[in-house]
Amino acid sequence: MRPGKILRTVLGSIFKKPATQDYPHNKSGMPKGFRGKLRFDSEKCIGCKMCMKDCPSMAITIREVAPKKFECEVDLSKCIYCAQCVDTCPKKALEATGEFELAQLDISKLKVIFHANIDSGLENPAQGS
Ligand code: SF4
Ligand code: SF4
Repeated sequence: MRPGKILRTVLGSIFKKPATQDYPHNKSGMPKGFRGKLRFDSEKCIGCKMCMKDCPSMAITIREVAPKKFECEVDLSKCIYCAQCVDTCPKKALEATGEFELAQLDISKLKVIFHANIDSGLENPAQGS
């Protein structure tokens, strides 16, 4: 590249907005379809366990904790965020969110339990979320 052309490129770039983001100060959110941390809706779950069968890394466990009430445990240290369980679930009880900042110093905190919706109806991750 000729020096004149380089100079034009440099000068032209000075007044342009940076192409990069000032992360983590600027978090613009993830695009639609991003496969981040799972969300579980116990109201929709019928306990068929198809998600467990299809998970390639055995990261998800569904347990019946009361008659027809199911809780979901996801081991984020095993999950590869493929969203196969989301695609498999016949009741749309699982959803991939845009949440991706999941690092923990304590690996036990990567086990997240979404409790069954017995009383409050609220998602209640046991730890680390
Ligand atoms: S596939 Fe869906 S409905 Fe079946 S156990 Fe898993 S989360 Fe529940
Ligand atoms: S996103 Fe993939 S690896 Fe993670 S629990 Fe679902 S099926 Fe398993």
